[in-house]
Amino acid sequence: MKQFSFSIKTFGCQMNERDSEIMAQLLAEKGYVESMELEDADVVILNTCSIRAKAEQKAMSLLGVLRKVKKRRPGMKICVAGCVAQQEGEELCERMPHVDLVIGTQNIYELADLLEATRGASKVAIGMSDAYEIPAFIPTLPKLISHGELQSPFPARPFRKFLTIMQGCNNYCTYCVVPYTRGREISRKFKDIIEEAHVLVDAGVREITLLGQNVNSYGRTNPVTTDGSGYSFSQLLREVAAIQGLKRLRFTTSNPKDLSLELMRCFNEIEILCPQFHLPVQSGSNAVLSKMNRKYTRELYLQRVAELRSFRPDIALSTDVIVGFPGETDADFEETMELLEHVRFHSSFSFKYSDRPGTRSADFDDKVDEQVKSERLSRFQKRQDEICLEQNSLYVGKCLPVMIEKVTQDNMVGRTETNHIVHIEEKIECFPGDIVNVTIYHAGQHSLNGRIDFTSTTGLSS
Ligand code: SF4
Repeated sequence: MKQFSFSIKTFGCQMNERDSEIMAQLLAEKGYVESMELEDADVVILNTCSIRAKAEQKAMSLLGVLRKVKKRRPGMKICVAGCVAQQEGEELCERMPHVDLVIGTQNIYELADLLEATRGASKVAIGMSDAYEIPAFIPTLPKLISHGELQSPFPARPFRKFLTIMQGCNNYCTYCVVPYTRGREISRKFKDIIEEAHVLVDAGVREITLLGQNVNSYGRTNPVTTDGSGYSFSQLLREVAAIQGLKRLRFTTSNPKDLSLELMRCFNEIEILCPQFHLPVQSGSNAVLSKMNRKYTRELYLQRVAELRSFRPDIALSTDVIVGFPGETDADFEETMELLEHVRFHSSFSFKYSDRPGTRSADFDDKVDEQVKSERLSRFQKRQDEICLEQNSLYVGKCLPVMIEKVTQDNMVGRTETNHIVHIEEKIECFPGDIVNVTIYHAGQHSLNGRIDFTSTTGLSS
């Protein structure tokens, strides 16, 4: 019997990356094998993102390429998943008749059955319900031994994994499609998360990143325990952190308005919680924040930053910024620049505002000129790059625990607790996921360089 192959191309965020892993596992369980080349696969899945225009354009242009491939290989099935699929549904099939399946963000667990059902005619499954429950999904991973040979033929050692704890969002920022494409905020059952975390750690995973659109509000909108008792995100963090063998814990993303003192305290009290926090500010101007419907002020944001740093002075902060939001004046933009000077983020993701279909801000009529947006963006990014370098230079001379990600013939690459990439121009006997003590001797804008610290005997730390 022919064994079918599949290939998944992921666009956008970490939520999509995790969803792609889930879809890959579902297909593998049905006997599909992963193809190295997209164009050779029997089933191609594009897991799309519509948060930014660029990611959507890339997915659409790949769909154009696949139209030609399908002419050569008519048996190929093309599936579109993710936010673009959710938004466009039937219309996507009408515009792109070579697409066999359009699958919504709450339907990915039905993928294998839906593919079976696509015989000759395209199918659309984009059901969305406020009563949706994130299934109890257990990942299958190759079993690992901490310092030895792999117990499985899988070449890659999955030492780091994402774990979804929530889906959707209730915040309705005026520029954002997420509440429409991923639905209302739904927290995953507490016991399912803990069970999945145990499976990951038992398989050798050393670092887990908990994922949700707004993790701070975990457990607030639906019961996460069978007896209906509430559980906060901080309690969840403490339970996951207590799993023996887990070395690092991270999470993303947070809305500043929901950041609690209880959560900030965790940075001081949970040893394996990495001192790194992504706290999207979007703008430094109260007028713009209000138009964005962010529900916090510049003052509240700065207060949260000061509180976070009082609990964990070495915390590395990163953020998201949108420049040229409709109505943003020169004075508003200057406030964003001032906020950058004040907070001195370790890194940031900054973008020019662009209309996204279906959002409220797409209908705002006071759009900022493209040229002005470009100038503001380049000014912001130039200053952020300088600050990155200044902040990174503070690590020079320090000895930091670095989790190894890649070991090559003669060097290694790893990451600090603060999520900085470190290039190490030497190597020792170790594996991805091991933690090595490294003394930093050079800082660049986007990474650090270091040497193994042999004063801590082997360089390996526990
Ligand atoms: S908090 Fe705002 S930007 Fe973030 S996912 Fe929700 S609506 Fe979108």
